[in-house]
Amino acid sequence: MGDVVSNESLANLLKEERRFDPPADLAANANVTAAAYEQAAEDRLGFWAEQAKRLTWQTPPTQTLDWSNAPFAKWFADGKLNVAYNCVDRHVENGLGDRVAIHFEGESGDSRAITYAELQREVSRAANALIELGVHTGDRVAIYMPMIPETVIAMLACARLGAPHSLVFGGFSAEALATRINDADARVVITADGGYRRGKPSALKPAVDEALTKPGTENVRSVLVVRRTGQDLAEAGGTWTEGRDVWWHELVERQSPTHTPEAFDAEHPLFILYTSGTTGKPKGILHTTGGYLTQVSYTHHAVFDLKPETDVFWCTADVGWVTGHSYITYGPLSNGATEVLYEGTPDTPHQGRWWEIVQKYGVTILYTAPTAIRACMKWGDDIPAKYDLSSLRLLGSVGEPINPEAWIWYRKHIGADRTPIVDTWWQTETGAMMLSPLPGVTATKPGSAQVALPGIAATVVDDDAREVPDGAGGYLVLTEPWPSMLRTIWGDDQRYIDTYWSRFEGKYFAGDGAKKDSDGDIWLLGRVDDVMLVSGHNISTTEVESALVSHPKVAEAAVVGATDPQTTQAICAFVILRGGVEEGAGLVDELRAHVAQQLGPIAKPKRIMPVAELPKTRSGKIMRRLLRDVAENRDLGDVSTLTDSSVMDLIQAKLPSTPGED
Ligand code: ATP
Ligand code: MG
Repeated sequence: MGDVVSNESLANLLKEERRFDPPADLAANANVTAAAYEQAAEDRLGFWAEQAKRLTWQTPPTQTLDWSNAPFAKWFADGKLNVAYNCVDRHVENGLGDRVAIHFEGESGDSRAITYAELQREVSRAANALIELGVHTGDRVAIYMPMIPETVIAMLACARLGAPHSLVFGGFSAEALATRINDADARVVITADGGYRRGKPSALKPAVDEALTKPGTENVRSVLVVRRTGQDLAEAGGTWTEGRDVWWHELVERQSPTHTPEAFDAEHPLFILYTSGTTGKPKGILHTTGGYLTQVSYTHHAVFDLKPETDVFWCTADVGWVTGHSYITYGPLSNGATEVLYEGTPDTPHQGRWWEIVQKYGVTILYTAPTAIRACMKWGDDIPAKYDLSSLRLLGSVGEPINPEAWIWYRKHIGADRTPIVDTWWQTETGAMMLSPLPGVTATKPGSAQVALPGIAATVVDDDAREVPDGAGGYLVLTEPWPSMLRTIWGDDQRYIDTYWSRFEGKYFAGDGAKKDSDGDIWLLGRVDDVMLVSGHNISTTEVESALVSHPKVAEAAVVGATDPQTTQAICAFVILRGGVEEGAGLVDELRAHVAQQLGPIAKPKRIMPVAELPKTRSGKIMRRLLRDVAENRDLGDVSTLTDSSVMDLIQAKLPSTPGED
């Protein structure tokens, strides 16, 4: 892979001056220094055993890793702990009960601050309520909720009881919810009447009602419903089933605010979470207790350099994605952090909404996704400029490769050209961050996740599983087990083996293409499934997209390879222009020439189509496989994980008007 678009192109995109040393004050006070890499290299398991001590164990583990039944790992197997106790109660016992855990900001501006002491009472009440509903240790609970504090409380209540939760993103349909309830065989569903989205109440309960009419969901005996919007259920198309449905405010609020947590085995299941479905049918990823919490707690502390006394952390992801699980619920709360939880969309009621929130709460650390950064680029620099963002000291990115140009924009317009950016590569399957700069140690390079974190072993290999030399491309693999790794695909051990452990003997296959630069730093190049083959050369979608985004008129780009009789595949690009830019004659030629100049003539797109929107999953990732269907004039594949399927109609309508040229 990446044999053509290699060193010169990287040199182009990565200009020498585009390296950013850690700020001196941050480096001097960093939570984690370069010594961590040395310690972990000397004794990887000892390093993780040390990090496990960040947690409070009822029975501290004496074993670290059991890999005897590979690829089924056991971490800290003889230890026992309670996750909710670690995220809540112990902070109260340590005298931090009055610290704000969650600053909740509703979309319409209602807000609520929840201290650790209140969180303890709320989680205890919710746990007692679940017990009253007959939830036992090991029972699965589906959570289909908006971004409100009760969602985090529900997760922690499940964790407290050892009842694995399965969050289903609130934007998913009844069908998708039913499939996930069925796959996990959930016994209880926790939901809300609705949440606020784009200025309006958006109903959730009717989708639960519909889901529960579908085969395979018969084992759901209770539905616990939070009243968020107060909308009329029947008017929204929902029903109320007596004996099954119960209001949160009636059941939870009359419970005792105390509950004694029980410690569970480190390998007790904590949650199931389905992958976002960018490439195919979602997989039910199983995470367990001790190893998961160790790595999310450590990475949140190390990568964000969290100072819980003074920082205000904000992760903008939906709690229904793994980023929300690990860096809204479990990482920040296990570290006693103060964080922001925002219900709505970034442009409601106006495009400065996020920056208003940063200003209001004095957010110091912001963690978001490239898709959001590119949307802000598109809306214009003047919007964040209206707000006081001086509290920010660290920025993070996750979810897709971040185009170097978007990275630079993020640093300049959000980070005042001063804050470090951590580009964190990881997956639902990895549970926690795996590759990322450390803000007090690494000189950062825009667009690269760079290095494996201490205690993590990653490399890039070729088709024959041989490590590639610096400057070459191939497949990203993880060569040693890690504490927060998935334990299996729920109910399908064979699919777990086939998907991740069969491509390269003894190595975890991530499914992402990657390249090492001349310093040995790792650059993610997009999904292996998306790599293009043009006249015998492998070309990365990410690099062509980044070249397009580096043109001043382009805010966002998606690139696919479409079958072509002459060249095997031809590069087809879909671009969103920056605010105020007119499509105009000559634009397409200008962009093609720009890519050729940045990456070489072979990477020049055959077709470029300006579009208003790109198809994205509900977690904001570009779904290239649908664009490939369009480019090849095929019927669209599965669109059930798409945010807005009308986007595809607009793109298809546009297609015939732009003939191919070369
Ligand atoms: P599915 O596996 O069902 O296709 P998905 O891979 O989109 O869905 P996630 O687990 O949410 O589901 O996403 C993980 C993927 O996101 C990674 O494999 C990688 O492709 C991409 N990714 C995440 N963070 C980064 C990053 N910092 N740089 C590059 N790519 C990233
Ligand atoms: Mg994936």
